[in-house]
Amino acid sequence: MRVHELAKELKLTSKELLARLPEYGLPGISSQLAQLSAEQAQMVRQKRAATAVTPPAASAAPMDGDAAPAAEPDLSVPQPGHIAARGPIIVRDLAPLLGLRPNIMIAELMKLNIFASISDKLDFKVAQQLAAKHGFKLEHAKKAEPPKPVRPKVERAAPAPEMPDVPLPRPPVVTFMGHVDHGKTSLLDYIRKTRVAAGEAGGITQHIGAYTVPIEDKQITFIDTPGHAAFTAMRARGANVTDIAVIVIAADEGIMPQTREAIQHARAANVCIMVALNKMDLPAANEDRVLGQLQAEGLAPEKWGGQVICCPVSATKGAGVDELLSMILLQADVLELKAPQRGRARGFVLEARMEPGMGPTATLLVKEGTLKVGDAVVCGEAWGRVKALINDRGVKVRTVGPSGAIKCLGLTAVPEPGMEFHVYADDREARTVAEERAAARRLNTLQAPKRGLSLDELLRQTDEGAAGELPLVIKADVQGTLEAIVQAIGEINSAKIKQRVVLSGVGNITANDVLLAKASNAIIVGFHISAENGVNAIAKREGVEIRLYSIIYELIDEVRNAMAGLLEPLLKENVIGHALVKQIFDISKKGAIAGCVVRDGKVAARGRVRIRRQSDLVYEGAIASLKRFQNDASEVREGQECGIRLDNFTAFQEGDVIECYEVQRIAQEL
Ligand code: GDP
Repeated sequence: MRVHELAKELKLTSKELLARLPEYGLPGISSQLAQLSAEQAQMVRQKRAATAVTPPAASAAPMDGDAAPAAEPDLSVPQPGHIAARGPIIVRDLAPLLGLRPNIMIAELMKLNIFASISDKLDFKVAQQLAAKHGFKLEHAKKAEPPKPVRPKVERAAPAPEMPDVPLPRPPVVTFMGHVDHGKTSLLDYIRKTRVAAGEAGGITQHIGAYTVPIEDKQITFIDTPGHAAFTAMRARGANVTDIAVIVIAADEGIMPQTREAIQHARAANVCIMVALNKMDLPAANEDRVLGQLQAEGLAPEKWGGQVICCPVSATKGAGVDELLSMILLQADVLELKAPQRGRARGFVLEARMEPGMGPTATLLVKEGTLKVGDAVVCGEAWGRVKALINDRGVKVRTVGPSGAIKCLGLTAVPEPGMEFHVYADDREARTVAEERAAARRLNTLQAPKRGLSLDELLRQTDEGAAGELPLVIKADVQGTLEAIVQAIGEINSAKIKQRVVLSGVGNITANDVLLAKASNAIIVGFHISAENGVNAIAKREGVEIRLYSIIYELIDEVRNAMAGLLEPLLKENVIGHALVKQIFDISKKGAIAGCVVRDGKVAARGRVRIRRQSDLVYEGAIASLKRFQNDASEVREGQECGIRLDNFTAFQEGDVIECYEVQRIAQEL
């Protein structure tokens, strides 16, 4: 028996059980997949019974739709509920429960000819009328409930963004990646066929960009477009939708170049990685060989004591797929994926197009909150009132919660995939937001387009005290050279800046590399290679910098310089001289001028000054003008007289000492 199975039996999460195992006499077990003998399992059962602690509520079914009609998917929430009121109903208390700002509610009351202030008591009937208008039923609280002070109690599913919402577990979102022909599409199709279509009498599966499979009381959402190119393209647009990347590896072929690339892309995105060893039905399948290769890639398999779950499967025969699905759920448990389920929805556009008879349609993946028919949605510059929501089985639903993917009808334009969507209070607000964005974009296209990071910009970031990390995509002509370069770059030691190789690979620079660089804010360095056709144009458009080299040490040097450039320069102050205020002239419209004599050193027009009055510091700032006689001077030397006017300071006094200094930027060493 495995730890996670026993956890399930004991109604604990794997994590909770793992944490308790030492206290049950089984120290040193760290994996939810670890095998327990029958005796060990029995011992845990007994000890657990003996300690008789009430288990914390095992992860509640994320979105069981008790109140939803049977034809609807599980991704639904109960219909808007009730407000139970106790005692007097105050405007201030009722407004947030209806999702309104008090001033809006006061305005609504005015329309009813009631002129109430924020702290006024409302007539119960009026309050009821208002609540009904916003989809709530206001009732007197039942007598049996313990008496409580004034505030009405709310119980509902309708959104009120101002109200805090406890995040609840949500289904994982999974993407399959891997080398071409290793079976990503076959796996997706097999799961869809057996899990989705079979479950729905007469349901025709629809390709909407993602689909959700129910597994017992849980769910998994699969992204329909497999592969790391699509994955990173979404990420480059800012949409991080995937929680778990399942790397599909054909067990007969093992790790191939694109497998390696997929792993690097998944790592760069910081998503959880699992492995499906596919084609186990083939005689040439060799599980141990692939596990060894994984280990060599730094993905130590669970079976060998590591952390990466590897499931042998056959997409054609279906063997092991159920196990894969439960492992995904298990992994999701460990990741503790959560999202608020109430409130206005937010998420990303997976796909969008113009469909005959439907107008613009978009597949939306909900990240948090609940999307409802009738909501006013904005994605980028497109907006609209949700006319219909159609799930992956072609069924119309009224609501969809976190991790649910849904085809949305009612937008006024086709949004771009990867865009974030938000729900607004009403059509008017949504429309305004969308229009403002369109206007802002038109303005922006007139100005320079927003670019990714270039090496020079990295160097300039010094001014803002930048990042602490230099992400790199490294490509070279042959494996041996590549390894040498990666190693040499790794050996650039700095306690302050870390180089991070997001991807290293052999071959010319591809569009994928550019997208990954864009998504990771990396720069691309190439050695003895070039960019594939059209890739330079993409890089230019995405604002990704490509640097090509044919001499290794030049490459290393530039990377070192780039890292050094990321360091904030040290600022050093050099006092260059002092002037003594002898006389104050109030002749200028712009304020007083101090007539001074330079006591030592010099005063420079570009320098900064401090005014000291005996031991007090009375001002610090820049010089507005420095004059020698009637003329502007760039500097005035010891013993000479000058007139100094400052920015924002006129209260000179005779005897003030003006100390002039310069700030020197000193580049730091790595
Ligand atoms: P993708 O490029 O990764 O999406 O791979 P596909 O799903 O298109 O599969 C490539 C080929 O491998 C197809 O001819 C599939 O029929 C075959 N294939 C996929 N999975 C299996 C499997 O589990 N066993 C065997 N024998 N063939 C498979």
